[in-house]
Amino acid sequence: MNHTILLLIEHEENRNLLSQWLAGQYRVLLPEAKCDFANRGEQLLTQPFDLCFVDFSSIQQLRQQILARRKKAVPVFLPFVFLTNLQNIGISTDHLESVIDDVIHIPVAKIELQTKLRVLMRSRSDSLQLQQAKEEVDRALSQEKELNRLKSHFVSVVSHEFRNPLNSISGMAQILKTYGDKLTPEKKVEVFEQLQRNVTKMTDLLEDVLVVSRKDLDKFEFKTAPLELPAFCQSLIREIQTVFDREIQINFVYRAERRQFDLDRHLIERILSNLLTNACKYSPPDSVVEFQVYCQASEVVFVIGDRGIGIPAEDLDNLFEPFYRASNSHQVRGTGLGLSIVKQCVDLHQGKINVESKLGEGTTFTISFPC
Ligand code: ADP
Repeated sequence: MNHTILLLIEHEENRNLLSQWLAGQYRVLLPEAKCDFANRGEQLLTQPFDLCFVDFSSIQQLRQQILARRKKAVPVFLPFVFLTNLQNIGISTDHLESVIDDVIHIPVAKIELQTKLRVLMRSRSDSLQLQQAKEEVDRALSQEKELNRLKSHFVSVVSHEFRNPLNSISGMAQILKTYGDKLTPEKKVEVFEQLQRNVTKMTDLLEDVLVVSRKDLDKFEFKTAPLELPAFCQSLIREIQTVFDREIQINFVYRAERRQFDLDRHLIERILSNLLTNACKYSPPDSVVEFQVYCQASEVVFVIGDRGIGIPAEDLDNLFEPFYRASNSHQVRGTGLGLSIVKQCVDLHQGKINVESKLGEGTTFTISFPC
């Protein structure tokens, strides 16, 4: 009984008889006895139904509302059936054609009524299915459009971000080629370090691109193994410090009693290195980044706090969307990919991530994993 029939029949006897006939097979909506028919009819027309019976009286009183309801249903077929005892009335009368789809003359044999209803309901179901299929195609199309938009955005952001370290590498190579013999040993070390930093930047960016596309391909893996956390964090800090061409102070505090945890080394590395790099990137040159690790209940918790530019409150909700950058971050280079990767990795590791930030004062990311 998944179809609903509305009986906008003012003649009470006809209405009750029809309701009894239909009740076994359909859900029936009808105005209660002795109600204000026009008012109640108008309300009932706003409810969901699959077919509606009307008579002369309801067409007279509710013509505009019926027309509006029919218009609203388009392009889905919502049949309105005219019930009449006048044998010479057909659908082709001017004022009827726009309001109804079929006529049933009473008295009518029950079997004939049922067959007619089945036919009309079949057309209704077909048109509903078509509409659903159309909606699915529309949805797929808009997803496809969004994907294409993201892809072109992705290509433009990534190629833009590659250009800078590449230019720098090319400049350094030129210096070595032209002045290689005349450079002091200290200057040579400086040039090589800068080369190394730019290569690391490009490798990191490539890694981000790979992570994002691997996710697209559903090939992201989660494999835990014992990880010696203090040594792992310290080596990560050293690596991050080499990427920046200025002194970076990261204050590392390890407060957990255990030193070894079952974690996915690759995922944790991506998470922490993105968060630590951001903390340094979005802070003034002389400021200190706090990095703490502790255990709480059955969780290992990482806290990374900075006293940098902070994040505007209105940007916090979208921070983990790919390519999203907060409105105050435009002086700092970036792709907006890091935090979306962080979120994917945290989810995959069944962890939680939380961000607290005050504009102009600083940002703290807290991540926890079951252990
Ligand atoms: P990006 O490459 O732009 O740094 P992320 O995905 O890592 O991309 O970060 C998204 C945005 O979140 C950044 O553009 C920045 O606006 C904001 N953000 C992230 N971390 C911080 C932070 N520690 N301090 C201030 N803003 C931050």
